[in-house]
Amino acid sequence: MKILVTGGAGYIGSITVERLIQAGDSVVVFDNLYQGHRDAVHPDAVLIEGDLADKAAIEAVIREHKPDGVMHFASYTLVGESVEKPFLYLRDNLVNGSNLIESAVKHGVQGFILSSTANLFDDPERMPIAEDERIVPGSPYGESKFLLERVLHWMDRLYGMRYCCLRYFNACGATEERGEHHDPETHLIPLVLEVALGQREKITIFGDDYKTPDGTCVRDYIHVVDLAEAHILAMRTLLAGGHSRKYNLGNGRGFSVKEVIDTARAVTGHPIPAVVGPRRAGDPDILIASSETINHDLGWTPQYPGLRQIIEMAWEWHQKHPHGYEK
Ligand code: UDP
Repeated sequence: MKILVTGGAGYIGSITVERLIQAGDSVVVFDNLYQGHRDAVHPDAVLIEGDLADKAAIEAVIREHKPDGVMHFASYTLVGESVEKPFLYLRDNLVNGSNLIESAVKHGVQGFILSSTANLFDDPERMPIAEDERIVPGSPYGESKFLLERVLHWMDRLYGMRYCCLRYFNACGATEERGEHHDPETHLIPLVLEVALGQREKITIFGDDYKTPDGTCVRDYIHVVDLAEAHILAMRTLLAGGHSRKYNLGNGRGFSVKEVIDTARAVTGHPIPAVVGPRRAGDPDILIASSETINHDLGWTPQYPGLRQIIEMAWEWHQKHPHGYEK
């Protein structure tokens, strides 16, 4: 396959590129490097520095490289930020994604994978969350992904471009070469590991009075390699003639904030001081996605479901790269 990966210098994108290249596929990365890192891009991928806001730039890339498929990761991705700066999401994520989709349709791209989000389901009636759950985006971030899902729906209906939307929660873990490096970091696992590295004094638990067994929020932590494999499998299926799909991806079970901290203590041998602070706005008690449908249709199942293994792999990367991709 020849695949264009937007956001291929970011966390999930760069690891998907790594796996594509290991599988013998050819990859073009399009990334503005605002949040991504040049060193995260596999050396065998072609890196084109550019912004999806520049419609002519992305169109030129698709015209020149003629990818079979597009994987779209490039995006603003923070729920909290999206509440503070809604138009980064409702406008920029939508316009940038639409520029890409329009060029993909124009140049006959056969398969489009959208890295979507389980933040489409803010008010689920059943847990784990299945694909037929009512869509209630939980934030401007979730809404922006839902709007792109709708754009793709129409591109299939009007022009026959097949697509797959993958919705998931908390990506985590690492490979030997690539891991999670955001600036500023807001995610639980890398923050906890920064405490273990001596870069932070403590971790603050955002509330311990939730309706969960230990009072802290339960989330669906899913290994980034499992996510990468799901994107690749979905692409292969589309390019083999499969029809458009939307799948939820989950790890099979959730873990609480306290479980994450305890596991990180066991893995790192560091006491990782923790204090309980106020709740973070918008955090529900429990979020877990069901992957029954993608398992049934494509045979996808997580290879790294254990929290200990996820944290071990992340810890190994953070120890080797204590400042992430910064030299
Ligand atoms: N969390 C926390 N302290 C932190 C960061 C996160 O208690 O410093 C909690 C957060 O409230 C949520 C879980 O950890 O319940 C995962 O949060 P994260 O920001 O990693 O991912 P999100 O669920 O927002 O995508």
